Amino acid sequence: MEWENKDRQSTAVSTLGEFALIEHLTKGFELQNPGSLVGIGDDAAVIHFQKEHGLISTDMLVEGVHFDLGYMPLTHLGYKSAVVNISDICAMNGRPTQLTLSLAVSNRFTLEALEHFYDGFAKACAHYKVDLVGGDTTSSNKGMIISVTVLGEAEKEKTTYRSKAADNELLVVSGDLGGAYLGLQVLEREKQVFQVNPQHQPDLEPYHYLVERQLKPEARLDIVELLEKLEVQPTAMIDISDGLSSEVIHLCQNSQLGCQLYEEKIPIDPTVISTSEEFKMDPTTVALNGGEDYELLFTIKQEDFPKIKGNPNLTVIGHMTEASRGAQLVTRSGELFPLQAQGWNAFNQED
Ligand code: ADP
Ligand code: MG
Repeated sequence: MEWENKDRQSTAVSTLGEFALIEHLTKGFELQNPGSLVGIGDDAAVIHFQKEHGLISTDMLVEGVHFDLGYMPLTHLGYKSAVVNISDICAMNGRPTQLTLSLAVSNRFTLEALEHFYDGFAKACAHYKVDLVGGDTTSSNKGMIISVTVLGEAEKEKTTYRSKAADNELLVVSGDLGGAYLGLQVLEREKQVFQVNPQHQPDLEPYHYLVERQLKPEARLDIVELLEKLEVQPTAMIDISDGLSSEVIHLCQNSQLGCQLYEEKIPIDPTVISTSEEFKMDPTTVALNGGEDYELLFTIKQEDFPKIKGNPNLTVIGHMTEASRGAQLVTRSGELFPLQAQGWNAFNQED
């Protein structure tokens, strides 16, 4: 991958005190948002929200549950930890402004490992113009636990909820789906081969797009900006972390509606189709149930359709119906199936 870490040194974290450690890891971060009045260093950060709505969201990532350091480089993990949070602000049609980062790590982690993690986190802060303004650092008995909180803001009339879609509105998705899930399948397969034969040199090049979707996802802040430019106000929105199917169901349930989702419209990259075949999976199932694409799913009024028509980043995949019709998939052959929320779920894993 593009950010390779080859450390010559391994310094125990305990050689620095807690304060020196925080200072060392965060010294490269500078505040860039006018709303970030005080960042790291006081008992609390001080924020001036410029817009009427302040938005707050938190996500926790646990080693062995949400990520596997066997194939997830720490730089990528740092980047992804920020991105998954920023994506939640985008899903409210807001702009992310600040982040806090809390970490618990066991003594297995070296200073260099944490530097890589912070380096990835800093790359995301720079890319999305978000400030790291605080956090907490502590030890864990086993593994790494990451908790990130993101702050953002939106103009009151622009904030977009899951609950405000209306009957007949169009269901739209950004980008394409299924890539991140297949990237994970590829990485898991390579890890297993490697465990049997450590000399094995994986050739991930044919799967570059998929692996990148898994290891270095992006939050679709560009779509929030695009919609603003096109003067399209989404009526309801959600980000796709658990798979299209389960997020469509969330939108339907929260808005008390049903929907028809057309299989033939679901945007799927050619690599997802070819790799699905290789794994003997159905690409539609992968796109519906594979998670972690972090694309945006939203509804728009019919009258706004001409504004988004033909945009390569946006695809109309269906429309909303009355609740009594349920959330349905219309297959290529015209059959109707109720959508099921089989999305990837952390609680499905055995302890
Ligand atoms: P307190 O004892 O008041 O919680 P800390 O010593 O934990 O203070 O933190 C000191 C400052 O460093 C605070 O501004 C806090 O937000 C920040 N901070 C602590 N840990 C981290 C971290 N892992 N990443 C970023 N900032 C951190
Ligand atoms: Mg603290």
